[in-house]
Amino acid sequence: MTSVIFNGTGSSTGVPQLFCSCDVCKLKDPRNKRTRFSITVIERETVLQVDFPFEMRQQLLRSGIDHITGAWLTHPHSDHLSGIDDLRMASFRNGTPLPFFLNSETYEITSTRYPYLFFENEYLTRPFLRPVILDGTPVDLDDLHIIPIRHLHGEMVVSSLRIGDFALVADISSIEESEFKKLKGVRTLAIAATVHKVHPRHFNLDQVIEFIDRISPDQAYLTHMNHTFDYEETLAVLPKGVVPATDGLRIEI
Ligand SMILES: [Zn+2]
Ligand SMILES: [Zn+2]
Ligand SMILES: [Zn+2]
Repeated sequence: MTSVIFNGTGSSTGVPQLFCSCDVCKLKDPRNKRTRFSITVIERETVLQVDFPFEMRQQLLRSGIDHITGAWLTHPHSDHLSGIDDLRMASFRNGTPLPFFLNSETYEITSTRYPYLFFENEYLTRPFLRPVILDGTPVDLDDLHIIPIRHLHGEMVVSSLRIGDFALVADISSIEESEFKKLKGVRTLAIAATVHKVHPRHFNLDQVIEFIDRISPDQAYLTHMNHTFDYEETLAVLPKGVVPATDGLRIEI
């Protein structure tokens, strides 16, 4: 049995957004409280952490995750990456560099910004992370067989993933048909639904609903939502089988 935990379901600002006094940010409904995006996939002793926001440490403590055996970075925007330092402790615990899956464009940016995690230096006897550069072909992390799904988010290349009948589609504004085909037959879909208005780097909610409809999963979960998404109001306009995820939600896939 494989589990997915939605650790954080917010967009880059989180909800409440600092210094905003809108109704959603007032948190009358606690389901609107969203830390920044990450998920954890658990298959027995294999634990894959997908994205590392500022709040990852608190998210993993809250969910009782006691180890990580692999990490996956969808893209190097700060809200997905800024908690990366805390992957050091996974490497400490395992006694070996952590397998770290990412595309070559993401590797260039991440290894330049955080060289001390990848390369030996005067403070380190060994690096913390062992990059596995995604080339489009499936990769294995112990029992998990992972199919990378490549798409765009504005100009940025994003590596989303499929594991069995489950897929995560992170920040997205377009996808080529050849990659879209890899989502055929997905029964449980998690997808970034960041905004309501038309946006150059994100599908808006209408586009997300259309995208879900094309894949036609049994169940879809919205994540990466900003403060224009009130839980109750959003649920009321979503088609059957589509719900907003909430922080801490755990599902079996
Ligand atoms: Zn994002
Ligand atoms: Zn607000
Ligand atoms: Zn992004």
